Amino acid sequence: MSKASPKYIFVVGGVMSGVGKGVASASIGKILQSRGFETTAVKIDPYVNVDAGTMNPTEHGEVFVLDDGTECDQDMGNYERFLDRDLTGANYMTTGSVYLSVIQRERNLEYKGRQVEVVPHIPLEVISRIERAAWKAKADIVITEIGGTVGEYQNILFLEAVRMLKIKKPGDALLILVSFLPAMAAGGTELKSKPTQYAVRSLNSAGLQPDIVIARANVAIDQKRKQTISLNCSVNERDIISAPNVESIYEVPINFEKDALGERILGKLGLKPGVRDLRDWRKLSETIKRSKETVRIGIVGKYFGTGDFVLVDSYISVLEAIKHAAYVFKRKPAIEWLDAEEYEKNPKKLQELSKYDGIIVPGGFGSRGVEGKIAAIRFCREKKIPYFGLCYGMQLAVVEFARDVLGLKKANTTEINPKTPDPVIDIMPEQKKNMAEKNYGATMRLGAYPAMLKKDTVAEKAYGTSRISERHRHRYEVNPKYTERLEKKGMAFSGISPDRRLMEIMELSRSVHPFFLGTQFHPELKSRPFRPHPLFVEFVKAAVARKGIK
Ligand code: GLN
Repeated sequence: MSKASPKYIFVVGGVMSGVGKGVASASIGKILQSRGFETTAVKIDPYVNVDAGTMNPTEHGEVFVLDDGTECDQDMGNYERFLDRDLTGANYMTTGSVYLSVIQRERNLEYKGRQVEVVPHIPLEVISRIERAAWKAKADIVITEIGGTVGEYQNILFLEAVRMLKIKKPGDALLILVSFLPAMAAGGTELKSKPTQYAVRSLNSAGLQPDIVIARANVAIDQKRKQTISLNCSVNERDIISAPNVESIYEVPINFEKDALGERILGKLGLKPGVRDLRDWRKLSETIKRSKETVRIGIVGKYFGTGDFVLVDSYISVLEAIKHAAYVFKRKPAIEWLDAEEYEKNPKKLQELSKYDGIIVPGGFGSRGVEGKIAAIRFCREKKIPYFGLCYGMQLAVVEFARDVLGLKKANTTEINPKTPDPVIDIMPEQKKNMAEKNYGATMRLGAYPAMLKKDTVAEKAYGTSRISERHRHRYEVNPKYTERLEKKGMAFSGISPDRRLMEIMELSRSVHPFFLGTQFHPELKSRPFRPHPLFVEFVKAAVARKGIK
């Protein structure tokens, strides 16, 4: 097939948000990829924020970061994990970013004096961005997920883009509605299709008709319900795909294929499907189902008591990376959230950390719970509990070590105490200027940076290579003035930037600790189900070993 004419699939949500539209989009991509089509995915966020960098993860979920430094929605992580492709900023847009481009173009006189209007110029910009993403990825098929739910004002211009593209390229564009079917009684099986019918009506009034409906529900949708939706929504019964809850998101592509979703899509797009190859995925699903023995991981952070759902969303890549690594050892990860502030209030509570096979302090910002995190890190170091620090978790491990082993009692990160006599974690001089000018956007180190690994270290052995590239999102760095002293006392900087100025990985030797390692970058962003991140694998390995001897 000619790469010049990609096919377009749009995924929209009906009835309510949070029913797994991102995973559905990623799974559709996986199915099409398994049939031999190069597939890429685009996410549209209906917010006015230009990117996700300014959004609070406790409200919006994790800020995912791409190689090129784009700060985006967590769904982009799902796409990367399912498709095993590195995406770029071309794969992500928000209402704000689209308007910004159109306005900038207008200011540059690029519309040549014409009146610039919301319609058609905004949808045209959306279409051209999707086309660019397809072109950049050399994709046969591009899947575009439109955030939000049909019927709300927020995404109307994106639906308009779908309508316009369908006119421009008839036969090349497909619309899939992921809709939710509620059941009245808790655990009930009588699914209600009426809200889905309203969602389709709402699409109809935007000039759109879904080609396929994915019926999300707690249980599988029965034939009778399929008939009702078919009759009322003018969708062929075979185009209504059952999507019940499953144990693991990695089962979703296989589940979709039970209703032959791939063939239905390709048939409509006039593409001849290649032989399906989802063997790896089947194997993974089997492993997940059969893994009964657990590995218990505690994640120490600042929590707001808003429930696990929020936490799962804020640390989704960390959770997925733990899972990928646990599956290598055929373990089911049992992950628990531990509130760092509790350790500040009641240091005795630190004892509970002994119950875990491994402890993670993930990325974070600000002072809340920091002393509790530092206390937890000390406990792990002294009691030889496998410890993995991600970004903030690495910086705080350096602070802890400086205080306790170097005796610099007031050592700190200048993020917490700008006046500390021992700023072991500090802003680099070139970033200080931007901070002073409140130019915050320019103060973060974002995206992929290379690092060199020191020979015969835990990191080098885990990666099996001496040069790596990992993704960043932080302002502060290990202060080079302290590295020599830290190293003298046994803290190794096993990963450093090629110019040797930035410390990328910190570790303690295997001879003193089973696993004590932290990264200035976010390794979780690059873990994939079939390419688990080597450092997570090493951490889980140590955790599994501890479980054996505990
Ligand atoms: N707050 C720290 C910094 O800005 C760590 C950031 C993070 O964990 N992502 O450097």
